[in-house]
Amino acid sequence: MTYDVIVVGGGPAGLMASIAAAENGAEVLLLDKGDKLGRKLAISGGGRCNVTNAMPIDQLIRNIPGNGRFLYSALSAFSNRDIIAFFEKLGIRLKEEDHGRVFPVSNSALSVVQALLKKVRALRVAITVNQPVQAVLYRESIQGVKTAAGEKIPARCVIVAVGGKSVPQTGSTGDGYAWAKAAGHTVTDLYPTEVPLTSAEPFIQSKILQGLSLRDAAATLVDPHGKPIQTHRWDILFTHFGLSGPAILRLSQFVVKALKKFKTADVIVKIDPLPDLNEQELFDLLFQKAEAEPKKAIKNIWKGIVPERYLTFLFGQIHLSSEKNFHELSKNEIRRMAAILKSFPVRINGSLSIERAFITGGGVSLKEINPKTMESKIMPGLFFCGEIMDIHGYTGGYNITSAFVTGHAAGVAAAAKKQNLFFN
Ligand SMILES: Cc1cc2nc3c(=O)[nH]c(=O)nc-3n(C[C@H](O)[C@H](O)[C@H](O)COP(=O)(O)OP(=O)(O)OC[C@H]3O[C@@H](n4cnc5c(N)ncnc54)[C@H](O)[C@@H]3O)c2cc1C
Repeated sequence: MTYDVIVVGGGPAGLMASIAAAENGAEVLLLDKGDKLGRKLAISGGGRCNVTNAMPIDQLIRNIPGNGRFLYSALSAFSNRDIIAFFEKLGIRLKEEDHGRVFPVSNSALSVVQALLKKVRALRVAITVNQPVQAVLYRESIQGVKTAAGEKIPARCVIVAVGGKSVPQTGSTGDGYAWAKAAGHTVTDLYPTEVPLTSAEPFIQSKILQGLSLRDAAATLVDPHGKPIQTHRWDILFTHFGLSGPAILRLSQFVVKALKKFKTADVIVKIDPLPDLNEQELFDLLFQKAEAEPKKAIKNIWKGIVPERYLTFLFGQIHLSSEKNFHELSKNEIRRMAAILKSFPVRINGSLSIERAFITGGGVSLKEINPKTMESKIMPGLFFCGEIMDIHGYTGGYNITSAFVTGHAAGVAAAAKKQNLFFN
């Protein structure tokens, strides 16, 4: 049998593409190499599945720093609001949390995956799991796919939705890049994004701050001349190898790029646990607190300002005795404490690997993909959607939104396409 559309990969992009194609009248075959579909989706958002983000479109795009603007056209046909309506129609009640993140009320990613599978089956999409695709077959146009078992399956259109290279245990092992190249596509440099950062700083190696979290803190990457490149504000976590937490994950792609651009072994990330105060205001606060209780040790007076463990650590960093009281303290010492609190520099020498990153940066070049249809501009009948493309957003539902939106566009367009098939 010749399918109208073969979808390779059953993540959010491939599932949505299958649904959109089948809803638009196509005979669809969905192939996945894993034993289950939606494995990465099932662990996303801390196992609760961050199905989308409710922010207005412009803000949504700003949170997709890796070529989010490419999505304008597809979002105008199927937006985050449409994703919400889509799931509610499937019986999945959703709730909006902080930063616009949308989750199922059940807090169960599995309920989202199951709803998608139910819909795919209801639309009579043929599904084959444990079926790794080895190659996409081309001549002047798409011919079909060849499975690892050697079977050639003809199709009028092939939608490649095999994801990136991150967390390969979920099936995303980067197989699609070679297929894209074989069709004549450019694959831009791949790099880890939304990834914890590593540091050889002695305080990191000694694990003195391991497990400490600074809430709503600012992390600023600076260039080799000390000029700020990018700041992100959210939680920062000290780990046994470096830094993590949402502010650091967001900063990570800029760090990875800066290390490459400046050809340096390390870059500085400055940590500010009190971004709402400037240095002078912080100095005034430290001074007034110490002056108000002049006989008490500053370690006891200042401890409410930041977590005690962090304060103790900073006393050590500036060689200031925490036992001193207001009378024993110089203004210069208070200034030094205000300065390090506002801007503690951490030397970062890299990140965890692309396999351990949440998201893969880079991918199939967008210059060669039609932004309305996700069809290749090089190979008629070949479509891409999801993380395999050179699009990446912050965690917070942006990547999943991109996968659903591009998957929907590809599915609709592939179903609409009719062309002749010649097959050996
Ligand atoms: C732990 C974790 C948490 C995350 N949390 C968030 C979050 O909160 N918000 C957010 O926006 N994003 C999050 N992400 C990212 C998001 O899950 C991905 O961007 C998204 O799943 C990508 O969708 P996709 O359909 O393109 O690819 P994938 O979900 O990776 O699916 C690809 C599918 O293709 C199949 N496949 C691969 N190769 C082949 C082959 N050769 N033959 C057949 N099938 C193949 C795989 O088995 C897999 O099922 C998270 C990622 C991780 C790892």
